[in-house]
Amino acid sequence: MSAPEKLYEGKAKILYSTDDPDILLSCFKDDATAFNAQKRGVITDKGRMNCAIATHLFQKLAAMGIPTHFIDQPAPNQMRVKAVKIIPLEVVVRNIAAGSLSQQTGLALGTPLPQPMVEFYYKNDALGDPLLTRDRLFLLNLATPDQVEQLQTLALRINQILIAFFHQCQITLVDFKLEFGLDAQEQILLADEISPDTCRLWNQLEADPEQRVMDKDRFRRDLGNVESAYQQVMERVLAQAV
Ligand code: UDP
Repeated sequence: MSAPEKLYEGKAKILYSTDDPDILLSCFKDDATAFNAQKRGVITDKGRMNCAIATHLFQKLAAMGIPTHFIDQPAPNQMRVKAVKIIPLEVVVRNIAAGSLSQQTGLALGTPLPQPMVEFYYKNDALGDPLLTRDRLFLLNLATPDQVEQLQTLALRINQILIAFFHQCQITLVDFKLEFGLDAQEQILLADEISPDTCRLWNQLEADPEQRVMDKDRFRRDLGNVESAYQQVMERVLAQAV
């Protein structure tokens, strides 16, 4: 048995090697960052909560036919995943105007979009993860036209599944970010995580615009009760069948 080697440490997770070169161990951290890591903090128990939420959502998506990197959850904050080459794109799906869409277009926060929208951002911290045009994406060889088509289709299908799932939890899925990777056969797999760190989730049982926020915006905007919001998401998600 070779000792696990730390392969990569990101803002929210650490990736370790395992005895099997096709399998990695992803350890979820309690560290929280926002605004391209200019704001830093700790959300107590976030690693365990996000790992539990992401595990449940990956299992749900796999059951609905979405290929994912998820294998299993050997410990509360650990996920075994298939080794993939991450495509350096942040694929954002939006159902309701919020965040950078509101800030950059003037669309009021909370405006429902006529149809879901998929955007591609360049996953590059040094450049601040800029929004891409298709031409820029192809110029930089970040993905092929066929891959972009597949990513768009997968993102919209994942959105349909997650909207329905979160609705059962009495949560509105406002927007979220996905990352994908390529396996050894160059097949596209959903990777990274889906959690309150990467989604905007609004509590349907709260009318107040600040009270309803159940995601990392509570941390970004100093709204307080961050841990209890994540806890609430976890309880509602885990209460649903996969
Ligand atoms: N998002 C993310 N990581 C990023 C940027 C965005 O998980 O590096 C998520 C964010 O939580 C939200 C969605 O993607 O659910 C859209 O984010 P937006 O472009 O509005 O950026 P923000 O204003 O949140 O930085």
